[in-house]
Amino acid sequence: MLNRRKFLKAAISTLAFTAIPQLSFSQSNPDVVVIGGGSSGLSAAAELMKKGKSVVCVEAMSRKGGRCFTDTSIFGVPYDLGGHWLHNFNFNQIAKYGKKQKDTFDIYKDPDKVLIYDGPKKITGMKVYSMYKKLGKLKRGSKNDVPLVEKVKPKWLENEWFATAHQLRFACSSGKDISDYTAADSFYNWESYGEGDQGGDGFVKQGYGALLAHYRQNVPVQLKTIVSEVKWDNKGVKVITNKGTISAKACVITISTSAFNSGKIKFTPALPLEKYEAYDSVPCGTYNHITLQLKDDFYNEFKIKPDVYFTSKINSKGLETPRGYCSTMRLHNSNISYFDVGGQFAKDLEKAGSKAGIDFVLQDLRNIFGSNFDKFFIKGHMTSWGKNPYTLGSWASATPGKAKLRKNIKTSVGNRLFFAGEATAKNYGTVHGADRSGLRVAKEVLKLI
Ligand SMILES: Cc1cc2nc3c(=O)[nH]c(=O)nc-3n(C[C@H](O)[C@H](O)[C@H](O)COP(=O)(O)OP(=O)(O)OC[C@H]3O[C@@H](n4cnc5c(N)ncnc54)[C@H](O)[C@@H]3O)c2cc1C
Repeated sequence: MLNRRKFLKAAISTLAFTAIPQLSFSQSNPDVVVIGGGSSGLSAAAELMKKGKSVVCVEAMSRKGGRCFTDTSIFGVPYDLGGHWLHNFNFNQIAKYGKKQKDTFDIYKDPDKVLIYDGPKKITGMKVYSMYKKLGKLKRGSKNDVPLVEKVKPKWLENEWFATAHQLRFACSSGKDISDYTAADSFYNWESYGEGDQGGDGFVKQGYGALLAHYRQNVPVQLKTIVSEVKWDNKGVKVITNKGTISAKACVITISTSAFNSGKIKFTPALPLEKYEAYDSVPCGTYNHITLQLKDDFYNEFKIKPDVYFTSKINSKGLETPRGYCSTMRLHNSNISYFDVGGQFAKDLEKAGSKAGIDFVLQDLRNIFGSNFDKFFIKGHMTSWGKNPYTLGSWASATPGKAKLRKNIKTSVGNRLFFAGEATAKNYGTVHGADRSGLRVAKEVLKLI
């Protein structure tokens, strides 16, 4: 039995290990703390370090990369859980880096081949393309901050291919349905993806996340370090985490807009109201991969070439959320295929769980390729970015009528707090855009410290 003195001693020593957080930062008083080890945080940290500043980059998850991460454990082949298209391929700086690492990365332009099915019938796709083109020509731009749906002609809603085009153009490009999507955002969205002379999209066989990790391999990140509060004044910042407090001259915040809106990071004193309004105006949409690993026999029997874009007609009515997917099959000549879902339908599936998502795709594939399709099925996986507490969505998309507030996300506060992340980039919603936002914010910080 413990006597009173021994008990007190034991209690005090337990306290030392539990109640008082252990400081485990490689640098306890850096010049800058960067919150978030995704594309933008890694880029900000890299640039600041290059210019001789000491930096601590903290990341809540147990890995680097944020919304751009390649997993190899689920299917035994590279599988990007987040970003995988190298948008703006001709100008994408991360793709350029990868092309120089010829021994490590295979980088190539997507073959841009499509395969379209109307039920079990393979078709040319002219009808869906015509609807897709009409939706793409809707008047867009910053002066058109209205729900894009207001520009849709009523007779289009009767078109048998409207739901499919709706899914491709909106739910699967913004993570939002057309009724929830502003025409102002849509303009830049297409620029982000590099339609036209920007080179379209490219792929990296080893995974975009693996490429990003290699690109930023020299940036140390303190993992499993969750920020709960940022205290700031005109002298500096104190960043409170589950592993202790870091004092610095400045702090760069790169978390997703929805993670910011969740209020899990408290700012003391509170930020100006405009900052909260700006983040709140551009929440994240929902977009997930439902990924199936299929036997090679399937790809061979149905003559499915690598990286082909596969579309199956969606039969939702009018403005209902399009209950369907856009697919990229036989990724990088491996045996996995993405069936991506977006918008309200993706949200509904997230709520229902990954089995519901996988079953939905399997049922559609049975309708197309025959009732014995399951003989080709090896394994499935669905991402749930909206359920990840540190992202709470896929990427930022403005609420109609509020797109102009997006620009206020990136304005600094008190010369101490600086903001980056995909939502602040010209090419928003992308990995390379997020990377550029990190560079931009580092330049701002360097002017002041
Ligand atoms: C399914 C999906 C598919 C996509 N497809 C593409 C694509 O094909 N091509 C493309 O270019 N882009 C794509 N994107 C978008 C792209 O992945 C993102 O725009 C980009 O990766 C965002 O980078 P970021 O640095 O702004 O944010 P993040 O990567 O989210 O980084 C922010 C980091 O902050 C961390 N964090 C949050 N809260 C805290 C806290 N309290 N304390 C400490 N750390 C915290 C998070 O864990 C996260 O790692 C896709 C995204 C998704 C989800």
